[in-house]
Amino acid sequence: MERKIRQFLEEREEENLLRGLAEVFPGKEARIRVEGREFINFSSNDYLGLSKHPLLAEAAKEALEMGVGSGASRLMTGSTNIHHELEEKVAHFKEKPAALVFNSGYQANIGIISALCGKDDVVFFDKLSHASIVDGVRLSGAAFFRFRHNDTDHLESLLRKERENYHSAMIITETVFSMDGDIAPVEEIVRLKKEHECLLMLDEAHATGIFGEKGAGLTEETGTAEDVDIIMGTFSKALGSFGAYAATSAEVRDFLVNACRSFIYSTALPPSVIAANIAVLDIAQHESYRRQTLLLNADHLRSKLKEEGFDVKGNSQIVPVILGGNEQAVRASESLKEKGYWVMPVKPPTVPKGEARLRISLTFNHKRVDINNFIDDIKTIKGE
Ligand SMILES: *Cc1c(COP(=O)(O)O)cnc(C)c1O
Repeated sequence: MERKIRQFLEEREEENLLRGLAEVFPGKEARIRVEGREFINFSSNDYLGLSKHPLLAEAAKEALEMGVGSGASRLMTGSTNIHHELEEKVAHFKEKPAALVFNSGYQANIGIISALCGKDDVVFFDKLSHASIVDGVRLSGAAFFRFRHNDTDHLESLLRKERENYHSAMIITETVFSMDGDIAPVEEIVRLKKEHECLLMLDEAHATGIFGEKGAGLTEETGTAEDVDIIMGTFSKALGSFGAYAATSAEVRDFLVNACRSFIYSTALPPSVIAANIAVLDIAQHESYRRQTLLLNADHLRSKLKEEGFDVKGNSQIVPVILGGNEQAVRASESLKEKGYWVMPVKPPTVPKGEARLRISLTFNHKRVDINNFIDDIKTIKGE
């Protein structure tokens, strides 16, 4: 065992793939301090800058009177009145009949997929899906086929060939992809799910708060909520808080309450977190200028980087700059650190081999002047 551990670490080190944990001191306005130096943080998922919103903190503080912890799992006595209130609000927000709150997006995905799918079933999911989707599918024991990223022709050919060999089928994709910043062809996938009688589950982790008029995500923007069986999303990214949810039918909700192990065997989220989540749903809907400004700034950054000859992907608040080799990505990240920017390199296995990149994550807290300075500075590292 010890030898295995040492070997693993040495291999990772040699391939430039060893990861470590930086000790981060959060500051104001997208600033962080690490090892005594200040950086502009381009690696945060606090897209709307809501994590420090005074109304969220106020709601959380008030709810502390109910206890720091919830004291039990949902099926015992942890299902407080505000957990129920939040679920009604989520259902309304996502335009579905019901919703169930989970302790994290990771727990939601592994639990929902493995509860709904079993060994006689099949799952079709996008090749670039988040690890929590992959793990959920593996845990379910269902057969699975991964379709090429956002390629509905490939999905359709897999459905034609494989669907009939299984009992139930589920299609899963993210709506905004975390490492590519691009958007799934939701309407086309809805058409395929109907034609081939599949359940459809969408992960709106990176779309919630950003897309749609009231910020409910891609299902709102495309008007497809009714046709999507399970809309999963999180409070942990644009909504600035913590936890996750599935918006679905009342029947699927009842099923999950009884069959979803990651829901059943875990203590309910603390009241302070639930209260902040209730507050943020209103704020995210009403303060639409946050998502509008953010998306305009992202377009600006993307077009300027393209002008400079960078290989830039996506059409959301996530702006990946593809550099190729692991070393190039690591070196670029180090150079930007020297200049005061915290931009993490993303390497395989998180992204395909040869597509190592800088993942620039824009937030409402980045001002135009930060972005323009960043563009000037990243220009100078080109060709290094
Ligand atoms: C972040 C993320 C999750 C996990 O959510 P957490 O609340 O952080 O556990 C799930 N799916 C996708 C696509 C994500 O980006």
